Amino acid sequence: LSERLASVAQMPAETADGIPLRIDANISSLKELEQALRYGASSVGLLRSEFLYMDRPNFPTEDEQYEVYRRAAALLGDRPLVIRTLDIGGDKQLDYFPLPEEENPSLGYRAIRIMLERTDLFKTQLRAILRANERGNIRILYPMIASLEDVRSANRLLDEAKRELAQAGVSHPMDVPVGMMIELPAAAMMADLFAKEVDFFSIGTNDLVQYVLAVDRMNDQIAHLYDPYHPAVLRLLKLTMDGAKAAGIPVSVCGELAGDPLALPLWLGLGVSAISMSTHSLLNVKHRLRELTAEGAPELVASLLAEGSSADIRKRLQDWAAARQ
Ligand code: PEP
Ligand code: MG
Repeated sequence: LSERLASVAQMPAETADGIPLRIDANISSLKELEQALRYGASSVGLLRSEFLYMDRPNFPTEDEQYEVYRRAAALLGDRPLVIRTLDIGGDKQLDYFPLPEEENPSLGYRAIRIMLERTDLFKTQLRAILRANERGNIRILYPMIASLEDVRSANRLLDEAKRELAQAGVSHPMDVPVGMMIELPAAAMMADLFAKEVDFFSIGTNDLVQYVLAVDRMNDQIAHLYDPYHPAVLRLLKLTMDGAKAAGIPVSVCGELAGDPLALPLWLGLGVSAISMSTHSLLNVKHRLRELTAEGAPELVASLLAEGSSADIRKRLQDWAAARQ
């Protein structure tokens, strides 16, 4: 690690003209969390809970999960920890839970779709999360939400989990904030309605790009078509922000695009509250953020929304940043 980057870890996440943008970490283990904190992450925007379920012979018990969530929450002190509920299927498989062979796994039986059927698995995880929320810094995030009914069903199960715990004598408050991933075009297009159902949005650009462009994110042959700067993606980001702003809920971005410094003017212009990324991107993105000025970013985004090609959008983002460093 260069000394210059290392010194960035302790500096505030803000632009050269003092506009703050929280820079959070995506983590898949407690070890990664410790590293993210050393690299100056503001908090954890995405804990991919899949890691708890992988490399083992069976489902983790409620107590096993509780222990990991509790330790993660404690490492963060009073900073938020966003725990995403199990997001398996598609590219993520468990040896002990064989899923049916599918023609189109990423359009198939996965994530919340499984959990709303396997309510035993879902409620076990939700109880573990609720029990771990002793300090009140945990947030719950649902993946792959496509309809209002998905959120409502998930929230009903969350209420059941709370009731079960209350009956078992758990006494700490259980009013944990609940958010949803915006990673299906349907969710972005209905953001105004979803924003009335949840406390926050987290934009998953990895899947959002895959689904809006019909480009399998795992297929190398068409990797050149997988384009986060496609104008349609920008329009979905805008719809998401408009819906969130109207309801007054915060938005963060947790897909890989959040770790690309070229996208920084987009987040500043759209007004997201946080970006969350792989640990290895944290220092570089903060370093670049601190070199930029935010003035004019909303106007830039407004005019980018009229562009018809990714090449033009990228070029204008590059020019804009170059003129402000
Ligand atoms: C996403 O889809 O952008 C995301 C963050 O989730 P994952 O990469 O785990 O599917
Ligand atoms: Mg995803």
